[in-house]
Amino acid sequence: MPHHTDEPDGLFPVADLLPPPPATAFRDSPAAARLLDIREIHAEPEAAASERGRAVIARFPRARVTEVPSHWRIPGLHGEADNTARWVRVKTETLVLGVRKTLTVRPNGRSADWIAPGASNGCAMACAYCYVPRRKGYANPITVFTNTDRIVERLGRHIAAQGPKPAPDQRDPAAWVYDIGENGDCSVDALVCDSTAELVAAFRRWPTAKASFATKFVNPDLLAYDPRGRTRIRFSLMPAADSRLLDIRTSPVAERIAAAGDFLAAGYEVHFNLSPVVVRPGWEEAWTGLLRELDDVLPPAVKAQAAAEVIMLTHNRDLHEVNLGWHPRAEEALWRPEVQEAKRSENGSRNVRYRAGVKRAAVERLRGLIAAHAPWLRVRYAF
Ligand code: SF4
Repeated sequence: MPHHTDEPDGLFPVADLLPPPPATAFRDSPAAARLLDIREIHAEPEAAASERGRAVIARFPRARVTEVPSHWRIPGLHGEADNTARWVRVKTETLVLGVRKTLTVRPNGRSADWIAPGASNGCAMACAYCYVPRRKGYANPITVFTNTDRIVERLGRHIAAQGPKPAPDQRDPAAWVYDIGENGDCSVDALVCDSTAELVAAFRRWPTAKASFATKFVNPDLLAYDPRGRTRIRFSLMPAADSRLLDIRTSPVAERIAAAGDFLAAGYEVHFNLSPVVVRPGWEEAWTGLLRELDDVLPPAVKAQAAAEVIMLTHNRDLHEVNLGWHPRAEEALWRPEVQEAKRSENGSRNVRYRAGVKRAAVERLRGLIAAHAPWLRVRYAF
């Protein structure tokens, strides 16, 4: 039995499958320009010369384009402690264009079955707890990889090689789930280029697989992508008070909740990431409020298919020190040594998490709150 509809190696001209661009795209709106007002593009020569690269450069005519030998370790951008003072400005005004060299599909097992090679890394938003800057250093604006076609080819071969999913699991009852946005936010990438649209279009053609990505940004342009159930969008949620303090530059939580019905109607599967859960005085009341809000405002059709991932905050000593330079108030909530412990990490990063007992109790408490206030919300996993 073929594992997907037609082309056995998963190759097809994805661009042909894209919907026509809407007459008025959100990405051309003043609201989008407030998030991304690109003045500087660092580009690998091959990326700048590619079709995708040229389209991105044309979208931001005011930007100065500088050639860089590699999207890693760009002098003056990555690993520059001075940039902490310009954190949000760097994220607003800078883009990097690169060519993705490694196309590894990594096993996951928790949120997704597999982590796809991402079409970007870095982010224009500035969540204080974000692990993405830990890799590239400091403000870490969006790097767009211009070779999405290679990523799609790689995924097509990987999906074909898996065959059908043998048994249901918490990730999905039938499909292999591929996280396409591990190191960034696909909704924001869609303000820059068509990579998210191309990936959504590609998964439409793979009946044994499903794309999945978490987002904190409501980009109405995605409503035109026609995913036909093959993309799961996971709106990340936390109580509004925590979000205002920690989720800098994201869409307000109420807006993310309000968008759920529209995204379901547009053909997405809509799940929620309850994350990160920040244990602070009053956290249980705040989460109760959020769960009651979900119960009050979500349409029945959203509730009928919704599921949630629950992830307790993990923090990092180096990020803590960096954050003190640009957003010290966030650290009052994130850095709580009295309830946290060091977490052994293979790559040597100095992570911290809630102490085992604190974490266990908080996970159980939150599960209890969900059961009491949003009993329709299946928890896929909590840790
Ligand atoms: S939206 Fe995601 S990738 Fe972007 S800063 Fe926040 S946590 Fe990081």
